[in-house]
This record gives sequence, structure tokens and C-alpha cells, in this order.
Amino acid sequence: MLLSLLIAAGCSTKEKADMVITGGKVFTADSSKPFAEAVAVRGNRIIAVGSEKKISRLIDPAATKVIDATGRTVIPGFNDAHVHFGPVDPDYIELRYVTDPAVITERVKEQVSRVQKGELIYGGHWEHEMFTTREWPTRELIDAVSPDNPVVLRRTDGHSVLVNSYVLSNSGITRSTPDPFGGEIMHDPVTGEPTGILKESAMSLIKTGARETEMTPARESEKEWRGYLTALRQAAEYGITSIQIPGSADFRMYDTIMAAGLLTCRIDIGGELTSDPSGLDRYEQLRQRYPGTGDWIRFGYLKDFMDGTLGSATAMMFEPFNDEPDKTGLPQMSYEELEKRVLAADSRGFQIGIHAIGPKANNWILNAYEKAREVNGVRDSRHRSEHAQILIEEDIPRFAGLGVIASMQPTHCITDKRFAEKRIGTERSRWAYAWKSLADSGAALAFGTDYSVEPLNPMEGLYASVTRKDRKGEEGDGWFPMEKITMEKAVEYYTLGSAYAQFMEGRKGMLRQGYLADITILSEDIFNITEEIIMSVKADYTIVDGKIVYERK
Ligand SMILES: [Zn+2]
Repeated sequence: MLLSLLIAAGCSTKEKADMVITGGKVFTADSSKPFAEAVAVRGNRIIAVGSEKKISRLIDPAATKVIDATGRTVIPGFNDAHVHFGPVDPDYIELRYVTDPAVITERVKEQVSRVQKGELIYGGHWEHEMFTTREWPTRELIDAVSPDNPVVLRRTDGHSVLVNSYVLSNSGITRSTPDPFGGEIMHDPVTGEPTGILKESAMSLIKTGARETEMTPARESEKEWRGYLTALRQAAEYGITSIQIPGSADFRMYDTIMAAGLLTCRIDIGGELTSDPSGLDRYEQLRQRYPGTGDWIRFGYLKDFMDGTLGSATAMMFEPFNDEPDKTGLPQMSYEELEKRVLAADSRGFQIGIHAIGPKANNWILNAYEKAREVNGVRDSRHRSEHAQILIEEDIPRFAGLGVIASMQPTHCITDKRFAEKRIGTERSRWAYAWKSLADSGAALAFGTDYSVEPLNPMEGLYASVTRKDRKGEEGDGWFPMEKITMEKAVEYYTLGSAYAQFMEGRKGMLRQGYLADITILSEDIFNITEEIIMSVKADYTIVDGKIVYERK
């Protein structure tokens, strides 16, 4: 006690920094002092933030590493609050940003030539709203180049899939197969044959019949190991220092990476929401093993799905879609089941995050969270709406009222806005991706990417938040420009906001004395650049726990 008092009283100021960042524009995300000139780090902590003059006293010319940020922006490390993070696979066919459906044919043909007959061909991130035709792809695109291989290509949102005839026949899906509950088998309007598109729970009908790829267990695990390290390197290259994985992931793998000294990112991993007491017991054990008091690998929140997506027309709406007037979305469970799960997990003190895109999905989960407070009592639960994408105006103030976090991914706005108004009309689009209205109502916001649905690059999210324009740029003021926010706020939600969503705002998410030294130096002064170049800004340095884990050459 005496020692810590002495340190607090000023002995520590005599001690020098291990690392000092000067010459930059430091955005602290600390509302009491948002901008500073320099930051000093010792060990894994920030020991001072302030003027050049103050920080320069902490430099020991012989021992302190001094980074001159030369006018570039220094921020708390990015914390991606919703990221489907995992090993990167070299066999995956990446179809993001494809505009010409013929490219899908080409890529499948290439991959087929690399593998043996019967081996699975897989990939995804295609988005038919981005095709020049803007039409759903069909199995005809890929059948001719893959007669002897099963092909499964997911839509960018992961809620629909394109398969070839090989897979349809293996799965026993024919023109007369009924739609399963919560799913849809798309049919050709003329012939009545399945088109190869399976939506939501219809994806569970898939039986690829794929033959095992010939890989020894050693080769398999080596490939997986490389995949994880590649993914972590990508995160570091984007300046990401923390990630929150919705749902489950492999705790032991991250333990192994950590033990090898190769973990370059703090990770929260959750579980699937359940009302089953034994399932909750198991989460209890995980929570004890990976406690919230830890700084690296922690048990996060319990995740569930209320609905689908806007792109697949499976988001839960109060009224039908404008362009599909017979549909109002696909609930993934009844309201009663939702409430049962929420009440059970809440009563055991778990944080809950539920995927909710449509206004009715968000309304239901707010109702369930409200019910949990009535039944189990009010606590600092910080339950989350994952996406909080389309709302009814009346529900906006309920987020702050119930302490529910709007966990949002700004790039969804600029990806979806191309078809949102066609699908739900202008009036309902007004309260879509409404981060400014939510923030103004007092709601806590956390930003992320939803990678691999959207790209991992946080700069795309910052661009989307401040412009609400598509990636190619466009004239005018952006889509529903009243919902644009400042760059300062966008960075804050991506750092401090995300830390708050994981109960870590007391030690992470700001550049402040005593906080964990997670710092990103960007390649530009992002507070003074034109819109067009925001997405091309790079991370020049990524510092995690006081160590440089990435430096751009
Ligand atoms: Zn997601």
C-alpha cells in the first residue's frame, strides 16, 4: 500500500518510458481530453499522455524507443466488436466485389482443375445486388464447369447459398421438396426446378457427398495453424488490437497461440445462447477459466439469431417487403422461445447479444431484454443488439433506456443501401443504420465489421460512418445524411465503444494514463483528409500490450 502510494505520489514520473510516440496528432477517445501531442508507454501500460514537452521528459536517450508519427493520427487500437474471426483458408474461393457473374464460373473452373473429382469446391461473399444483372445466380452458372464436384458458394451475408446440381441431387432436393421451417428453396418461376439457391434453414438440407481431401492429420493441423497466424497478421496489418467473436470459437487454439507467444490481438469468444441449465453450467466453467478480469482470451457473450438479413429478404419486418410483398422475413424462433432463453441466461449473469436486422427482430429482443429486467432485476447487463440495423422510431430511445448496446457494422449501410429502398421503401429506410439517432438518444454504440461478411479493414467502416456513400464515392451528401457522424465519434465507437461493450472501458479503448498500451498509428491525419482517401489509409504501426506487433515497411 505504502509503495503504491509512493508511486502515485510521483516516483513514477522519474522513471523513463520504454516507448514514446511524438510528433503525431493523438486522438485519445477520452472525452475529458480528446487530443494530445504525445504518448509514453512503459511495460504494457500507457504511463502518460500529453504535450511534447511533458512526454519528452520521459525519454531516456539510451533506452527509450521513440516513434516520430510526423503528423499522422495516433489512436487507441481498433477493437472489432463483431468479427467472425478464424483461420484463413487458401482453398476458399473469394467472390467479394464480383460484378460479373461469369467470374464465378471462371473461379470455380480454376479450383476444379486443382482438386480431384468429388472433392468439395467452396467459397463465397458473392452479392447479387452487386452483379450488373442484379439477379440471383443459378446453378447453370457453375454446372458445366463442375460436373463431378460438389460446389457450395455462400452469399456475402452467409444467409443464402448457391449450390450446383451435383449438390442438389446428392441432397435429394427436387422440385417437390417442401421448404423447411425458417428456410426457402428457390425455384425457377418457369420450370419450377430448384435454382440452386437455398436460404436460411434450407441450407441445412445440404449433403455434398464430398470425398475426403487427401490430407494427413499433420498436414491438416499445419494448414490450420498457418491459417490462424495469417488471420492474426491480417488483423495486425489493419491496426486491430482487440476482437470480439460472436458465438463460439476454439479457445484451446488461441491458448496454444498465446503459449507460443504469437497472440497479437486480445480476443473475446462467446457461446450460443441457450436456456438449457447444463449448457449454461458449461458456459459458467468457461467463464471461470477465461474470466472477464483477464486481458487476453476471455469468455464473451451468448449469441443467438432472431432473423436473417435484408439482402436475402429474411429480416423480420412488421409489414411485407416492397419488392417481395408476400414476405415479412423469417423468425429463427418464436417470441416465447426467445424470452425463455434470454431470461435463463440473464438470470445467471451472462451478457447476451442477439443478431437482429429487421425492426420486428429488434423490437422483440428489446422486449425480451426488458422482460429480463422485470423478472430478474435491473443490473449492468449490457445486452446487445448485434447489427441493430433497421428500427422503428419508437424503439430508438429504448436502447438507452434499457442499457442495450447497439453493436453496429457501418459498412453494412453502404453495402445494403444500393437495394434497401427498393426492398423496404424510403420511410422504413429512414431508421436504418441510424447510428447518429441512436447516439443522440443516449445509446451506447460499439462498431465492428462483421468480417468475413464484410471486409476486415476498419477504415471502410470509418468511411461508411462519416460519408454514408458507396465505396466508389458519389456526388451529394450521402444516404440519409442526418445519420452521418464525425470521424472522432466513429473512431470512439470503434475503440472505447467496443471496449464498453465488453466491460473493459476501465482499462482499454482510450489513450489514458494507466490504460493498456494498445495503440495504432495511421498513415494519414484522418481528421483532415478528403473522403475519397479514407479507405486507402493504412496502419503504419500496431502496438498491443506495449509491443509493436506490426510495422508497415
Ligand atoms: Zn455476424
